[in-house]
Amino acid sequence: MEDNDFIEQEILKRIDEIYLRNGFEDYYYARVRNEAKFVLMGCAETCESGFCVSMGTNKADNYDAYVKVDGDVVYVDVKDETLGVEGTACDVTPDYVTVNKEVVTLPKNLSNETFQKDIWKEYGDRCIACGRCNFACPTCTCFTMQDIFYRDNPRVGERMRVWASCQVDGYTQMAGGHEYRKDKGDRMRFKVMHKIYDFEKRFGYPMCVGCGRCDDICPEYISYSNCVNRLAKEEE
Ligand code: SF4
Ligand code: SF4
Repeated sequence: MEDNDFIEQEILKRIDEIYLRNGFEDYYYARVRNEAKFVLMGCAETCESGFCVSMGTNKADNYDAYVKVDGDVVYVDVKDETLGVEGTACDVTPDYVTVNKEVVTLPKNLSNETFQKDIWKEYGDRCIACGRCNFACPTCTCFTMQDIFYRDNPRVGERMRVWASCQVDGYTQMAGGHEYRKDKGDRMRFKVMHKIYDFEKRFGYPMCVGCGRCDDICPEYISYSNCVNRLAKEEE
């Protein structure tokens, strides 16, 4: 069990905003979403790099079932009666952490001026545009389309969605070759500001859930959480 499984419900809330309530309802997402059941696993201890407490995502109660494994005993709290779990009745409530090793302070006064800060240039020198931070992020929802034609029968093929990353080359490229964010520092700025500023302006809370996966996976040791803390520090 990963110790940040507990924030999955907070993640889904954000993905729902994008695919269901961002101007249109995504038919394919809604079809799967309506059939899904959600089983929650709690966190008895904090992980190394998550900061869910700072983001207020350390606790959730909108689940169909909660499962806690304690030695040979499995405790289950079932809210959806159709799941039909059998056993001896007892009280169980989800574990959650109240302290993380990583603490993040969200900047309070982000504005369009934040987009002009020198801090972004520094990240542009370090980032290699691999996109791993996006692909690891549970709240990144961008996708692109790929058409695949089969060699043995060119009249048959597949159109599929594939994940896209705002950090990689070509993400903003348009017909004619124009690209909005060629500089990698601009891409880092776009990603960070989307997570803690743009999404919040639209939906009222940050997109980032504080899982810490982007910090763990960056091959250049670029820390998103440190970046957010630096933005907050610069406001003091
Ligand atoms: S900590 Fe990083 S990976 Fe996790 S939700 Fe926030 S931006 Fe995404
Ligand atoms: S994982 Fe690190 S190096 Fe790769 S795109 Fe993200 S910030 Fe850049």
